[in-house]
Amino acid sequence: MAMPQFDHSTASLPQLAETPSTAESILRGLQDAGTCIQGAYVHVPFCMHRCHYCDFFTVAGRDQWRSAYVTRLLDEATVVAQHWPGPADTLFVGGGTPTWLEPPDLARLLEGLAACSLLGKGGEWTVEANPETVTEEVAGILAGAGVNRVSLGAQSFRTEALKALERWHDPDSVPRALAFLRDAGIQDCSLDLIFAVPDGGDAVSGWTSDLKRAVSLAPTHLSCYGLTYEPGTPLRRRLESGAVTQVDQDIEAVLYATTQSVLADHGYTQYEISNWAQGDQVCDHNLNYWRNANWWPLGPSGSGHVNGTRWRNRPRLGPYLEGQGLSEIDTVEVLDADGRAGEVLMLGLRCTRGIERQKVIAATSLPMRGQQRAAAIERHLESGLLVWDDDLLRLTQAGMLLGDTVLVDLL
Ligand code: SF4
Repeated sequence: MAMPQFDHSTASLPQLAETPSTAESILRGLQDAGTCIQGAYVHVPFCMHRCHYCDFFTVAGRDQWRSAYVTRLLDEATVVAQHWPGPADTLFVGGGTPTWLEPPDLARLLEGLAACSLLGKGGEWTVEANPETVTEEVAGILAGAGVNRVSLGAQSFRTEALKALERWHDPDSVPRALAFLRDAGIQDCSLDLIFAVPDGGDAVSGWTSDLKRAVSLAPTHLSCYGLTYEPGTPLRRRLESGAVTQVDQDIEAVLYATTQSVLADHGYTQYEISNWAQGDQVCDHNLNYWRNANWWPLGPSGSGHVNGTRWRNRPRLGPYLEGQGLSEIDTVEVLDADGRAGEVLMLGLRCTRGIERQKVIAATSLPMRGQQRAAAIERHLESGLLVWDDDLLRLTQAGMLLGDTVLVDLL
């Protein structure tokens, strides 16, 4: 898949006419300013079961609302489409588990979104799916609507790790789902995997076997994340009560290095801290985030960004279903030039390519945090976590492992 050809320099985009506090005013500003939107995100919060490590806005056991949700979401999409400044490069339907919708509702959602023409011709259209929900019928619905990329939450191929994650699917459902998707014509399939799962076994050999099984299925893309213990999740409470023990940080470092070497050996190129692709089959939608491009969220809890204004839709199902038109906004943050420069650094450095010297100079010459950022960059260059590669500043292999620590220093 070709990389998106859009101008990622937010500095060159027109500013919104006013400080927005509602989706309506942001949309009005978009139209007035002629700003382009590179991506759209659609949230479907329903899941069969809530995994105990998950901190996304999801609901389980409220399946009776799925059909009404699709109707409500299409109402929102219709309003967004009336103001849409032009076709986007990417459309991502995530969750939750979009494929947990009943097949007729899934078809209605996807066909309705296609009819809204938010996505440009030939753009990347991804749907997230859990392996156990992908049947021949579901794969046919996805392909029939024009979806050309599926991201499967495999997480592990070992029953003990899946059990420790409270995932209910059978490891064999992953190859089965891939076969259905490929037979339906969707060749661009990504697998999500989680390492450092406290499953009582040997972490390194368990993870190595997961990676080998994953590459044997030849996905075009892999996302590999270390398990995190997010505040407010049942998993975090189990960690605090001593019911589970976190995998040692040194072992986690070995797991990450193993990921890098096994995937490189099998022809996958790392293009972001947690993402690898075959050839150019990167996830353009996620690259929009890391390039600080503009994207629009539909549905509760979705987050948006337009020219330095970031917002999050209210993460509540009931009020969303009772409302109409655009989602209600929960929080808005309007970044100043300094904040935007910090974000360009922090997000851009997540990508292995790194960021251009001119952006680094811009971010380090600003009056507010410029000097502190320059000092932090020097410090991380000296400690070997950052490196200049001609005119690009990037994280080193060691820097990738400690990426979050380095990047927070630069924000
Ligand atoms: S299936 Fe995914 S979105 Fe749903 S609860 Fe589990 S981790 Fe969260």
